[in-house]
Amino acid sequence: MNDNAQQIVRMQQLNKHFGSLHVLKNIDMHITPGEVVVVIGASGSGKSTLIRCINGLEEFQSGSLEVDGNELLPNGKSGQALQTIRTEVGMVFQQFNLFPHLSVIDNVTLAPMKVRGWNRSDALEAAKRLLDRVGIADQADKYPSQLSGGQQQRVALARALAMEPRLMLFDEPTSALDPEMIGEVLDAMRELAKEGMTMVIVTHEMGFAREVADRVVFIHQGEITEEGPPEQLFDKPRHERTQSFLARVL
Ligand code: ADP
Ligand code: MG
Repeated sequence: MNDNAQQIVRMQQLNKHFGSLHVLKNIDMHITPGEVVVVIGASGSGKSTLIRCINGLEEFQSGSLEVDGNELLPNGKSGQALQTIRTEVGMVFQQFNLFPHLSVIDNVTLAPMKVRGWNRSDALEAAKRLLDRVGIADQADKYPSQLSGGQQQRVALARALAMEPRLMLFDEPTSALDPEMIGEVLDAMRELAKEGMTMVIVTHEMGFAREVADRVVFIHQGEITEEGPPEQLFDKPRHERTQSFLARVL
């Protein structure tokens, strides 16, 4: 099998600094289409920075990174590849980041119309289908502030999917939610995983990680300490650091 040609993310020896802080250290991460990768680790270990590098929200200083065949260059020298990657990679944040002054449906149609050049009726039709898919078709004309956190996060998911992304990144998508709303967001993500979406998910929901992940990556102080299938990483962690992290969160 020619792995290299197939990988949607090829990250090799990536290093990222914030000033004197060395946040990501020689990270190698390869992701195959359809794979669901869950990233875990303590607060401040570099999880957000890692996934933000994948869609060019953060610059890196050395190493190589290709996303769906588009090469991102160190120190912000990526040029056109950056625009391409941002249209192909969807992201869902902890804080839903919806446009507060736009209705739900307008939140979802905006990017496909502006960036992809879809006409309004095509964008509307696709948006309605997506809202239905995440279970909030009846909220289309409301504004974000009128929705619960769980509903807002599902709008954010629909909005990202409206761009027909090749890859979806999630940064603690349920961390800002009241406990009773976590399930509805995880359900929508679970469906997406089943449909074969390639996903990189930062989460503290270990039960969910065990269930949906093809691979779990444990990061400690900017380094990948250990990675493997969930059964191995959760039940038979090899590294002492992984063991002590899991002992704290499980
Ligand atoms: P995690 O998501 O695992 O909690 P982050 O990737 O957010 O970790 O942060 C990793 C480290 O980088 C932390 O020490 C954090 O304080 C630092 N950091 C993150 N963003 C910035 C920034 N914009 N400027 C300076 N330091 C940052
Ligand atoms: Mg984070």
